[in-house]
Amino acid sequence: MSELIIENLAKHFGDVRAIDGISLTVADGEFLTLLGPSGCGKSTTLFAIAGLDTPTGGVIRVGNQTFFDGDRGILVPPEKRNCGLVFQSYALWPHMTVMDNLAFPLRIRKVGAAERQRRIMSALELVEMDRYAKRYPHELSGGQQQRVALARTLVFEPSLLLLDEPLSNLDAKLRIRARNWLKELQKRLNITTIYVTHDQIEALAMSDRIAVMNKGSVVQLASPQEVYTRPSGAFVADFIGSSNFLRGRMKHRNSDGGAEVILEGGLQIRTIWAPEVQEGSDVLVAVRPEHIRLAAARPAANDTNLLTGRITGRSYLGARYQYALEAGGTSIAAETEDSLDRPEVYATFEPEHAVVVLP
Ligand code: ATP
Repeated sequence: MSELIIENLAKHFGDVRAIDGISLTVADGEFLTLLGPSGCGKSTTLFAIAGLDTPTGGVIRVGNQTFFDGDRGILVPPEKRNCGLVFQSYALWPHMTVMDNLAFPLRIRKVGAAERQRRIMSALELVEMDRYAKRYPHELSGGQQQRVALARTLVFEPSLLLLDEPLSNLDAKLRIRARNWLKELQKRLNITTIYVTHDQIEALAMSDRIAVMNKGSVVQLASPQEVYTRPSGAFVADFIGSSNFLRGRMKHRNSDGGAEVILEGGLQIRTIWAPEVQEGSDVLVAVRPEHIRLAAARPAANDTNLLTGRITGRSYLGARYQYALEAGGTSIAAETEDSLDRPEVYATFEPEHAVVVLP
């Protein structure tokens, strides 16, 4: 079992609270992503798990082993943690062939020659690089080097796979292929994996669960669908995709978990979800640009949320247009396939695409 448990983990560099009391559990075989903006503490968390850095406090446990305990310090040194760490820079040894790069971690672990050979070939086959065993790193493309770096980690059969932005050096198309491939491989091997990225699409596409981080804390830990459709606050609503925020006041929370909100201009809006906040509290209604429909004529349906607005800007995005509007005293972004030529428009969105978040 390689369940990972982190309790109240902290790492301070002087006054900088790089991680500030993080708690999370990663189930055996789970793919969990740490997602957040630059400097939010993702790499520091990964380094603490690998043992490359000593935390200021908290507990790190894997299976029945305690790696670190704030009261007792480091209990399992990094070389005994059996963590496979892969970084953004492939860091293959340039003077060694692919084969020798993979042999190195096995030699350190004193694996005999025959077993070494077997494991190297099986790891290279896993990443579909067995034909390249005799090449040097400079004779490989970026994507191929990335796969070899992963094979070099898989070859010693780690119980935890720690990946720090491993795809960020690949071009956009290769990156999409690589993420599908990596996700499929991870599931096949069933290795407990922590993946660090600031790319929200990558996180949504690959993860079983996402820990959204901001300023050293985990602000939401949930499935990709949940962080997208039920963001825990304005930060998550805007970091995962993007959101418009309409200011208002909670009228009441409905029994189905949705709410009625009175916007600043007096308009009543229905949402599908709202946290439990007191009636009358200041709240924000978050709606994504892709969920706002624009029409030149007033829509007939009277149960949708309807704003009247004025287009102030338009950008062509290829498949869609992005419009900037002034509606209900607020600037709103809307994305739609339709080309609208009159500035006066009606903007509507379904209650199921609107959620209440706290400011
Ligand atoms: P990125 O996506 O840019 O890699 P990150 O989320 O991985 O960012 P970390 O590298 O974990 O962020 O850094 C978290 C915070 O800790 C940052 O504010 C960073 O400046 C700070 N920090 C990291 N290492 C040190 C250090 N050795 N000394 C002082 N501050 C540090």
